[in-house]
Amino acid sequence: MSVRVRFAPSPTGFLHVGGARTAIFNWLYAKRRGGVFVLRIEDTDVLRSSDDLVRAILDGMAWLGMTPDEGPFYQTENRAQHVADALRLLSTGKAYRCFCDVATLTAEREATEKAGGGYVYPRRCLAIPRAESDARAAAGAPFVVRLQIPSGVTAWDDGVHGPTSFPNEVIEDLILLRSDGTPTYNLSVVSDDIAMDITHVIRGDDHLSNTPKQILIYNGLGLTPPDFNHLPLILGSDKKRLSKRHGATSVLDYREAGFLAEALFNFLALLGWNPGDERQKMSRNELIEAFDFDGVGRSGAVFDPAKLEWLNGLYVAELSRDDF
Ligand code: GLU
Repeated sequence: MSVRVRFAPSPTGFLHVGGARTAIFNWLYAKRRGGVFVLRIEDTDVLRSSDDLVRAILDGMAWLGMTPDEGPFYQTENRAQHVADALRLLSTGKAYRCFCDVATLTAEREATEKAGGGYVYPRRCLAIPRAESDARAAAGAPFVVRLQIPSGVTAWDDGVHGPTSFPNEVIEDLILLRSDGTPTYNLSVVSDDIAMDITHVIRGDDHLSNTPKQILIYNGLGLTPPDFNHLPLILGSDKKRLSKRHGATSVLDYREAGFLAEALFNFLALLGWNPGDERQKMSRNELIEAFDFDGVGRSGAVFDPAKLEWLNGLYVAELSRDDF
């Protein structure tokens, strides 16, 4: 099986160090396995995405020396496929139309949450017979399409965390298509990963809770999910999630500040991964040769600016006079 991975940033912000680290791990894994590195711009949030941000992401990727083997592809261009996959789930009975109005659902959710509970849609519309559902839709009644979550447990063997599972009862019958017919995030990701023959999903731990939902979409479509590998969050020195409070987080800010791309690449590759020995300064080829999910840590990786300065110093010292 040939390896195909993707880096799938949403252009709602610049290429930050967390995104760049995800891209680097995908890139290293593709190179290590002689695979293909796909770049997919997830631009479905049209209000927050912009061409400038897309350009900044491409610019940051190019500066770090990561040219995609395929892409950039744009998620909005594949919308017809996303809708087709949702309709397939609907026609095979794995999904159903929900006609509940937003005000009722919001009130229910608020009441449950006020009482301290976690709200899960109570599946009223699952009981609507198919013929009636078809007739209501044909008559123009607004509806969303929900995936019917089966009972049981959804489990996978995560390349980083090992065996991981979620009880299905905590997963709501998730919306695949909104009432305006647009696909939701989890559907679009799965649909694209299928269309692009992705074999390994490598992304941040912040997506862990999306994974069971995505696996259930694959199951509903009768397809085998890819391998999942979730990377530890990047933390500031105070052990809180890295943010602007900790200083620069945009990759291009480091370029402006005079850091060398090779130094930042090396530094980010070691953020949450180690080669199993004491090496710190590693060339791109050494990183490719050593990279594996066994060396990826399970808990948060602390971003240490002093270490980046130190590594950068080593790379600067190697420059020829002209390059300097
Ligand atoms: N677009 C998502 C993000 O930027 C990534 C989706 C994924 O990797 O599955 O967080």
